[in-house]
Amino acid sequence: MTGNPLFTDSPFPKFDAIQAEHVVPGIRQLLAELGEEFSQLEATCSSSSTKLTYESLIPPLERISDRLSRAWGSVGHLKAVKDYEAFRNAVEEIQPERVEFSLRIAQSRPLYEAFQSLKDDPETWASLNTAQRRIVDGELRDFVLGGVALQGADKDRFNEIQKQLAKLSTDFSNNVLDATKAFTKVCTTPAEVEGLPPSALALAAQNAKTYTCPVQKTLIYEHATAENGPWLFTLDFPSYFPIQTHAKNRALREETYRAFVTRASTGQSDNTPKILEILALRQEKATLLGFANYAELSMASKMADLGRANQLMEQLRVASFQAAEKDLEEIEALARTSGFTEPLKHWDINFYAEKLKEAKYAISDEMTRPYFSLPTVLEGMFGLAERLFGVTVEPSGADPSLPPIPTWDKDVMTFCIREGAAAAAASSSSSSSSSSSSSSSSRGRGEKKAFFYLDPYSRPAEKRGGAWMDEVCSQSRLFPSQEGQDMPANVRLPVAHMVCNQTPPIGEQPSLMTFREVETLFHEFGHALQHMLTTQEEGLVAGIRGVEWDAVELPSQFMENWCYDRKTLYSFAKHWETQEPLPEEMFEKLNKAKNFRAGSIMLRQIHFSCIDLKLHTEAAGIKTGEDILAREKELSKTTMVIPPLAEDRFLCSFAHIFAGGYSAGYYSYKWAEVLSADAFSAFEEDNALEEDEERVRQTGRRFKETVLARGGGQHPLDVFVAFRGREPSTDALLRHSGLLTAQN
Ligand code: ZN
Repeated sequence: MTGNPLFTDSPFPKFDAIQAEHVVPGIRQLLAELGEEFSQLEATCSSSSTKLTYESLIPPLERISDRLSRAWGSVGHLKAVKDYEAFRNAVEEIQPERVEFSLRIAQSRPLYEAFQSLKDDPETWASLNTAQRRIVDGELRDFVLGGVALQGADKDRFNEIQKQLAKLSTDFSNNVLDATKAFTKVCTTPAEVEGLPPSALALAAQNAKTYTCPVQKTLIYEHATAENGPWLFTLDFPSYFPIQTHAKNRALREETYRAFVTRASTGQSDNTPKILEILALRQEKATLLGFANYAELSMASKMADLGRANQLMEQLRVASFQAAEKDLEEIEALARTSGFTEPLKHWDINFYAEKLKEAKYAISDEMTRPYFSLPTVLEGMFGLAERLFGVTVEPSGADPSLPPIPTWDKDVMTFCIREGAAAAAASSSSSSSSSSSSSSSSRGRGEKKAFFYLDPYSRPAEKRGGAWMDEVCSQSRLFPSQEGQDMPANVRLPVAHMVCNQTPPIGEQPSLMTFREVETLFHEFGHALQHMLTTQEEGLVAGIRGVEWDAVELPSQFMENWCYDRKTLYSFAKHWETQEPLPEEMFEKLNKAKNFRAGSIMLRQIHFSCIDLKLHTEAAGIKTGEDILAREKELSKTTMVIPPLAEDRFLCSFAHIFAGGYSAGYYSYKWAEVLSADAFSAFEEDNALEEDEERVRQTGRRFKETVLARGGGQHPLDVFVAFRGREPSTDALLRHSGLLTAQN
């Protein structure tokens, strides 16, 4: 295996060296080796001569899954951020073998029985701690969901379904990427782009400059400028959305809107047949496993159950519907007073909503952008981590003892998180007379706790849209560190990556972010913190591992709240050129604007959540694209205040539920938002944010020691209660959204 950059003992993959040609031979060889190891483990499980223990079962299994997840994780990650045809083909070629191996583990009868014997033996069970029991229980549950109880033809069919679903999910997201790439709109006269802010024009000119004509295979707009064009727009969100909010050119808004909501719904990249296949296969899988439908299956591994999830959606729907109607009335009224007489269409809503926002709060993304430059925002966000959790973040390059960390793009940044800086400083000063020579500068900075990558900018040609975080490797006692000096010897430190798609730097100007992009960055950082600040050393439930899906968004959405905290915001809201702080009136307006259209926004999320649950509950009766549309139409009567466009096919690009992990789980965003809003409200009590910094510090440390530290090692409800002292309530979310009054 030497020579293939997919493999390294370092926690940092060789992202700069992994190429398409390494994928198939590397993964194939790895699967062969792991197959042998797994056979040995199964032999141990089946052997009657020795009594199985936790230690003889779990660590070998974790070693196998760790090697696979690190190599395959690197491949999957590169496909998402550095996609090219040969790489995509390589992934597709090896995917079935990878799925087959995972299935072999998931369906190993000897392993299943071994886990069952751990659970059935009172002495063994009594010796396990909570996290270890969660591992055993979780494995047993997954064995059942993975089809291990199936026999014969049912089992063969189950395996076939799993393979097909994996391929369909890849096909689905490829279609979305292709359809997004396929659309380009070139504008050549200033009249066509009137109203668009300079940042959008600069991005469009930059897109034009680098655009290679598919026919001539050459650059054809290399002289494009922001002022004089030509401007090239794509369906990539930073390019598309400014048109919807700012372009006076109604035809341009309509053309791009129609293109956006019909992505991947026609021709070669039509996802409709894929959706039908996915739904049918998921239903069949659920039936094989003894569930009524896929939604029930999904709930078997969630914090919620189907009844509670639907109940919460209905509670929030009722609280937001009237507010959404009022939002629309206000937008219509503004359109009328500005002389617009035609009926309002979908491509007018965001445009007049932006005008309304400007009129109401006199604030736009463009006014605040100069105050949110990425380097300063990062500084402020890291400062908050120090304030709340007592950790420091610095670029990994600042530590000479660390080797350079390979990345996949020149714009990717790498950071190291340290813990206990204050404690280390205090102890080194108290013993300074004896140990001054031995305390290096990095000791004064605290102990290394974790590492992360940040890939901030949009790169539409090769990078998936949206923002996400994932693990590179997890903390674990099984893999003591070998990397550099000054690392703890007993565990491997967790490594995470964060990927955003924000506006790239333009010329000399740093990346100037919209406020929403700032919130997104905080969001992903919240995920990363849960992965990185874990104290759990059982690798299978450390960090974000083993956390129920619908509790996963707790720390991420919790972090978003801090963007509205005065102290936090002013730590980074400085004009990138003048260093002037964000004007006070803008801060006030941002706070007021926070709940602008809160009802509409919540209702939209409810619609996504409900259509997801509905399709996965009723899949048995869905046979055609028309069946899907009928269900959407029926639902939209209660979840939309303006019916969708007849040709709207947003489901065709709804990758969350058809290519991601949110199938029958999109409601998790709202479920977790209840948890996160309620968690944040612990900081608001008795006006602590304004008046009691010590209490903020203590509450922050408690959040760190419960929600961030315990990860998947404890049931999320128990973790929440440990932090909050009681079970979650919806009050804080409705209060934060200004929807408490609309509730009754
Ligand atoms: Zn998230």
